Amino acid sequence: MCLVFNQTLLANNQNLRLIVRMDDCYVSADSKTVRIIRLFEKHKTPINVGIIPFKNPADTLNPIYRSRYAEIFVHGNKHEKEGNDEFTGLSYLKQRDKTQRGKHLLESKGIYPCCFAPPWNGYDDNTLKALEKSDFLIISANEFGPKNNSKIKYVPSTCYSVKKAIEVLEKESLFNGIIVLLIHPYEFNSDADFELLEKLLIFINKNNIQTRYFSNLNSLDENITAKRLEYHHYPLFYLLRKYDILGFNHTVYYEMGSLITVNIIEWFLLLIISLFGHLKYINKLKLYVSITTGIILLLVVIIFYSYKSDSYRWVLLYKTSVIALFIWLNHRLINRKKLKAAQAT
Ligand SMILES: [Zn+2]
Repeated sequence: MCLVFNQTLLANNQNLRLIVRMDDCYVSADSKTVRIIRLFEKHKTPINVGIIPFKNPADTLNPIYRSRYAEIFVHGNKHEKEGNDEFTGLSYLKQRDKTQRGKHLLESKGIYPCCFAPPWNGYDDNTLKALEKSDFLIISANEFGPKNNSKIKYVPSTCYSVKKAIEVLEKESLFNGIIVLLIHPYEFNSDADFELLEKLLIFINKNNIQTRYFSNLNSLDENITAKRLEYHHYPLFYLLRKYDILGFNHTVYYEMGSLITVNIIEWFLLLIISLFGHLKYINKLKLYVSITTGIILLLVVIIFYSYKSDSYRWVLLYKTSVIALFIWLNHRLINRKKLKAAQAT
């Protein structure tokens, strides 16, 4: 009975969806790529396949990439380092040239990719501009690159092992989101590795878990803007994901609804903490002490965070400043009322 009940619960776990992104695919050099794509075909499940246009150009003609269940994205240009990685630090023109040439090569073979995943997940602001100019719509790197280009959409990888993806999907999730699983053919070294992947595919089909291509996300009414990615780095949400609190975890790219809820809770928490400090001191030492407390709090935050420009740190500074301003204005109002009352008597 209990087992049936658990199975029913699992069957209803449709809050999480899955995107599988496979980097470093070249058919002629590596039959593992073919074996993985065949598994997805067998289970009628979509996989996103990352081709490196100038690594094995002949590969782009291979029919395996035209599989009904494989969508191609571009994974770099030659996958060769120029500095830290293939793109970061290069001039805009150089990056534009690289992204455009790769895209044109695939287009000449009748392949029209919408997503770009930079090798080693490395990119900078110029990469974003170059991608925009080359008519890419989505970037899939990790969560920590720049996200200040509003025209490009962001679907970062969040999960790096098949085992972990199964674990997360097996648990109940209160919140909607996508697991973006990143795999590489070279990680599949034994039959057991392929069997585990097949276990994942069987599990998602049995439990009706939806799987997607990158292009699906772009065409569906799904918010994959820079804002969604930025929200993941807001302080409270960052902590909840990092320490697996309230069912959140770092392997899921959460939807805007849960992100906005946590953002509002964060405002309330900061407000309650500030007001608590404010009321505690106002009784003892009157108005100016609480203003000084607010200023000290602000200075502490500035000193701690000013040397780092990650948005999740700045957002705490921003929120604390707004609340401190709110308390300060409130004081001015109280003072003015008191003054008027004193003048009237
Ligand atoms: Zn790669």
